[in-house]
Amino acid sequence: MSCKKNNFMRTTFTQLENFGHSLRAQSFVIQARTKDDVHSAFRLAKEKNLTVTARGAGRSYNDASLNGGGIVLDTSAWNLIQEWNPHTGQVRCEPGVTIEQLWQKVEPDGWWPPVVSGTMKTTLGGCLSTNIHGKNNFQMGPIGEHVLEFTAILPTGAEITCSPKLNADLFYGMISGLGMLGIFTSITLQMKRIYSGLLTVDAFPVPNLHSHLFALQENAPNYDYIVGWLDTTSSSIGRGQIHAAKYLHEGEDKNPQETFKLKNQTLPSRIFGVFPKSILHFFMKPFVNNFGVWGVNTAKYIVSLRKHSFKESHGAFHFLLDYVPNWERSFGQGGLIQYQSFLPKETAEFVWTQILKLSLKNKLPAYLGVTKRHRPDKFLLSHAVDGFSLALDFKVTDKNRKKLYSMLQEFDKIIIANGGRFYFAKNSETTAETTKIFYGEETVEKFRKLKKRCDPHGLLESDLYRRIFG
Ligand SMILES: Cc1cc2nc3c(=O)[nH]c(=O)nc-3n(C[C@H](O)[C@H](O)[C@H](O)COP(=O)(O)OP(=O)(O)OC[C@H]3O[C@@H](n4cnc5c(N)ncnc54)[C@H](O)[C@@H]3O)c2cc1C
Repeated sequence: MSCKKNNFMRTTFTQLENFGHSLRAQSFVIQARTKDDVHSAFRLAKEKNLTVTARGAGRSYNDASLNGGGIVLDTSAWNLIQEWNPHTGQVRCEPGVTIEQLWQKVEPDGWWPPVVSGTMKTTLGGCLSTNIHGKNNFQMGPIGEHVLEFTAILPTGAEITCSPKLNADLFYGMISGLGMLGIFTSITLQMKRIYSGLLTVDAFPVPNLHSHLFALQENAPNYDYIVGWLDTTSSSIGRGQIHAAKYLHEGEDKNPQETFKLKNQTLPSRIFGVFPKSILHFFMKPFVNNFGVWGVNTAKYIVSLRKHSFKESHGAFHFLLDYVPNWERSFGQGGLIQYQSFLPKETAEFVWTQILKLSLKNKLPAYLGVTKRHRPDKFLLSHAVDGFSLALDFKVTDKNRKKLYSMLQEFDKIIIANGGRFYFAKNSETTAETTKIFYGEETVEKFRKLKKRCDPHGLLESDLYRRIFG
């Protein structure tokens, strides 16, 4: 495809993957670094009858930033921090700025992003589109609640500014809108003041799902963050460990300038100061099977029986998953998918007991289980509930793919029947029919109306959009 007259820096026909390397799609990839690039991409799409999907860091576990046969607008290099005010904690960024760039900019001045994902590699454009939540969702809500303003380009060519007061319907629709209404071009966020580079963390075991969920609910009000590890391979359903963390109050850290230093936050690149971490995933591979994970989980649970408290840097607490680079490669050729369901506190125990038992019965246990406490929010395509979420990582192989997807669709039915919700950054199997039931007709209709207004020619589409909106 010739792109000369659109003046793009580079266009390539490339195979892209989801984060877990379990889904693939060939697309025309265009680098976007300016608003003109976005306008040109829309013009080109219209001319050639193609669709467009933005892509940040490609860290979604599913097909959110894949667009088979269409254009993928890669915004990852559009990544300047345009303005930072260390007095007010307000920051304005281009859409490709990562959570890593953001915290490294603001933390030395005593601020921290109010909501971060479990990896720091995600971009702000991607984070707004899926409206990410952190381990403090029960308190701080999703990232969208900390956006003061954003600017965006709609497929109509209109350049808009949105805030909770200005173009509010688009503000609440585009944040959470899965990149299907327009392209974010700059994002202004409010950071949170912190008084130390450290958090106080309490770690304690929970013997079953009932105590697991009870511990999340009862402890959440007393902490700033709470997260659970759940042993997905054990027949003692729901046993695991809770990590609950608090900020230090002003004056508690006698030398915050020292703990704020980036060298005390960043994760070391070598294990024991010798082995490069980049090779660790090769050594993990032999353990990433049903028996290996059962052994590792059993050992982890036994070690976690000791209740203890410790101080940990923000970086280490939040971004544990970045500790081993490319860990997802240890799942082998077929890769992995994540299945995260959100359930009201009244039905979570019943539902997850069923689905965890089903996965064991089918000999398709998840290899990682993570729980969080949540509260609802008012974004249009919200995934949150007054309850909990459980994220499950499943290994995909050529042999198990069909059985795994049909098991997850079975889970979907149980979850829907019990008032549950899905998160479309981490969901690879939900159908348009199920999506309609989960959002409700009124929400789907509202979204369709916004889509028609912003994108009358249907230029923005992704593999995910085609799957869940049909
Ligand atoms: C290890 C790991 C841990 C994670 N932990 C969490 C977590 O704790 N909480 C959580 O909520 N999520 C979590 N996630 C999911 C992740 O935060 C989201 O999938 C996020 O959207 C990824 O950002 P990205 O930049 O990689 O976006 P991509 O995956 O590239 O894209 C995601 C969506 O954003 C759209 N998009 C990207 N840029 C723009 C733009 N400029 N304008 C409009 N739309 C755009 C895309 O079209 C797509 O729909 C985790 C993912 C991983 C891999």
